[in-house]
Amino acid sequence: MEEIFGRRGRAGAGLTAPGKTGVTENMITKARTREAATDRLAGRTLWIPRMTYSGARMAAAVFRSVGIDAMVTPPSDQQSLELGGLYSSGEECYPQKVTLGDFLRIIRADDFDPDKTAFFMPTAEGPCRFGQYGPYLKRVLKDLGYADIPVISPTSRNAYDGVADHAPDMMRRTWWALVAADICRKLLLKTRPYETTQGDSDEARERGLDMLEEVVADPALRGRRRMAAMVDVLVRIRDRFRSIPARYTKDRPLIGVVGEIYCRLNNFSNREAVRRIEAHGGEAWLSDVCEWIWYTNWSQKSLLKRDGKSFSGQMLMAHLKSYFQHKDEKKLLGPFREDFIGYEEPHDVYADVLRPGWPYLPADGALGEMVLSVGKSIYLYAKGADGVIDISPFSCMNGIISEAVYHSVSRDHEAIPIRNFYFDASTSNMERDLDIFMELAISYGRRKQRERRYPPWFR
Ligand code: SF4
Repeated sequence: MEEIFGRRGRAGAGLTAPGKTGVTENMITKARTREAATDRLAGRTLWIPRMTYSGARMAAAVFRSVGIDAMVTPPSDQQSLELGGLYSSGEECYPQKVTLGDFLRIIRADDFDPDKTAFFMPTAEGPCRFGQYGPYLKRVLKDLGYADIPVISPTSRNAYDGVADHAPDMMRRTWWALVAADICRKLLLKTRPYETTQGDSDEARERGLDMLEEVVADPALRGRRRMAAMVDVLVRIRDRFRSIPARYTKDRPLIGVVGEIYCRLNNFSNREAVRRIEAHGGEAWLSDVCEWIWYTNWSQKSLLKRDGKSFSGQMLMAHLKSYFQHKDEKKLLGPFREDFIGYEEPHDVYADVLRPGWPYLPADGALGEMVLSVGKSIYLYAKGADGVIDISPFSCMNGIISEAVYHSVSRDHEAIPIRNFYFDASTSNMERDLDIFMELAISYGRRKQRERRYPPWFR
């Protein structure tokens, strides 16, 4: 069980008869792939883009746990935008400009050494341009004379199974780390609006990530011991958040935040949208990273079905992976049952998110974040949210398509306010319109039928 994610190869290997030693050709191929993948990175620092601060720190720690030196790109700044703009045509997505600019800052740094550098840029299927980020980065590197710098790009087509190319249980380690990072962000967002001393929650999150990073990066921790150590740290983080002096009152509107994954989670790109919501008297429920992983799992199974592989080794492994991911997530979330009353994330991405959104955007036709944004808006409505904000980059089709159906979603759900906010390198309509949106959310809160549940310490 402990090795189940590492057995991906063995499920596929079931197609190849084991030799006398019990070792199949596929097992040998997998081992060789891992060796080659790790060799490619030997002596290099793998730079992880900071889509989410906590998630990127955890992902880097996972790579370090298997002997790959990995670091998070430095915080984005004006130079990121300038460099990203310099090496793109202006038609690319805003997140592409930011991530490219962040990587180019590393190349421009005084201590840059191409032989000691590698970049991490996952990719995705579907109608979105994210699939072009990796190839585009490779092209820019080639144009600059750095074609030999490796770009590591696991893909959503196989639900990022390629991550395991670096170590047998890496997929599982990464999952635990992502769940823990999401928990930390959730604790931060549900505590910070109520803290009585400004900065306490940010400080607790920062120290929490330091503690988690230590455990996640520890190569000696495996299987059950790793899980126990992570749960132990999460309990300590929980207790630290619980001890923050705070005034938990029921008068803050709860604002769901959905939208394009990078822009909604990257504070630089959305210009601290969540802090702005808090400054306007609200509390934000931000759609997390794990939601995307559940979606890619669902999508992997859909693609296998479409390709006539409903009864295949690949399908069996996809189901097993989801099963164990749920099981592990439950263990990590165990200590937070009371803290997350009223903040429960969807249990089943199809039943809780995609199916409710189907009448507006069928997930077998409209792919990617737009179906998550629409379905999650309905989920948030049912949880008693007072409004939903969709954060997207200008010109992103996810935001544009979602916006086209939000009117119907809102009409069918007690006219809950749903509003798109768009961002690019220089402008956003958030500054202008957030005041009005919060007024709408407050007035909806007074007449809404869906009551919000609260943890016991709310008054
Ligand atoms: S979701 Fe939108 S902004 Fe993000 S990569 Fe896709 S097209 Fe670009």
